[in-house]
Amino acid sequence: MTKPAATLTLNDGHTIPQLGFGVFKVDPGETTRIVRDALDVGYRHIDTAAIYGNEEGVGKAIAESGIARDELFITTKLWNDRQGTESAFAAFEESLEKLGLDYVDLYLIHWPAPANDKFLESWKALEKIRESERSRSIGVSNFLVPHLDRVLTETDIVPVVNQIELHPAHQQREVTAFARENGIHIEAWGPLGQGKYPLFEAQVIAEAAEEHGKSPAQVVIRWHLQTGNILFPKSNRRERMIENLDVFDFELSPTEISMISALERAGRVSSHPNDVN
Ligand code: NAD
Repeated sequence: MTKPAATLTLNDGHTIPQLGFGVFKVDPGETTRIVRDALDVGYRHIDTAAIYGNEEGVGKAIAESGIARDELFITTKLWNDRQGTESAFAAFEESLEKLGLDYVDLYLIHWPAPANDKFLESWKALEKIRESERSRSIGVSNFLVPHLDRVLTETDIVPVVNQIELHPAHQQREVTAFARENGIHIEAWGPLGQGKYPLFEAQVIAEAAEEHGKSPAQVVIRWHLQTGNILFPKSNRRERMIENLDVFDFELSPTEISMISALERAGRVSSHPNDVN
C-alpha cells in the first residue's frame, strides 16, 4: 500500500485527507467494486453526490470494507431540485440512508443555481444539519465570488470548502483567492481535466514526469497538492487508483510549479455555474 495522503485542517477544526477518490460517472452497478478497490489500495476520502445515483454502492463498499468509520471521510451533495429548507432536510436523510451511514463528514450544496435563488435558504438548512452533527462539516460547490459573498455576509457559518472545476488549464484564480482569504479550502473537481484537455501532453508536464520518474497524471496531482488544493481524481481502474495515490515520494520544484501554473487558458470543461439550475 502507498503512503497515506496528507491531511488538511478545515476552518471548523475537522481534518480532511487532501487526496481522495471521486465517483462522478461511476456506474451504479459497478460502484461497490470500484470503491472497494479504492479503499483497498488506501483511499480514505470518497466524494459522491445524490445526483451521481451511486450513494448506495458507496455505502455498500464502506460496509464491506470493515474500515472503522472514523478513519473515513465521506462527502455527498444536495442536488439543485432539492434546494430549500424541508426539501434539503429530506434529501439529506435520503443520502444518509442510501449511504447506510449515521453521519457524513461533509455535505455540500452542489451548485448555487442562482436563478432559483434558494442557495441561502439551503445554506441555513445545512447550518442546522451541521448543528445536529449528522454532517460534521458543510460546504459549497461551484460557487462564484458573488455567491460566496452572500453566504459570508448573510449567514452564520463560513463554508469549509468550495468545490470547483480546477486544473492547470483552468485555475479560477479570482474565486480561489477570495475563498482562501476567507478561510475556505478549494476542492478541485476535474483535477485531471476530465481527459478533455491535452494536459498530459503539455511539454512542461511531460518533462517534469520524465525528470521525477513519474507519470504525467502524478505530476498534475502533485501540482494540486503543492498549490494547496484538495482533490479526488476518478478512475475505474485499480492500477490507476494506485498510481494516483503514489505521489508522496517526490516534490515539484518552485520553477516546475510556476511553469505548470502558466498553462492557464480561458475556458471550462463544464457549464458556467450561473447556467446550471
Ligand atoms: P478527473 O479530472 O478526475 O478525470 C477523470 C478521468 O481521468 C478518468 O475518467 C480517467 O479516464 C482519467 N484518469 C484518471 N487517472 C488517470 C491516470 N492516472 N492516467 C491517465 N488518465 C487518468 O475528472 P472527474 O472525475 O470529473 O473529477 C473528479 C471528481 O470530482 C469526480 O469523480 C467527482 O467526485 C467530483 N466532481 C464534482 C463536480 C461538481 O460539480 N461538484 C463535477 C465533476 C466532478
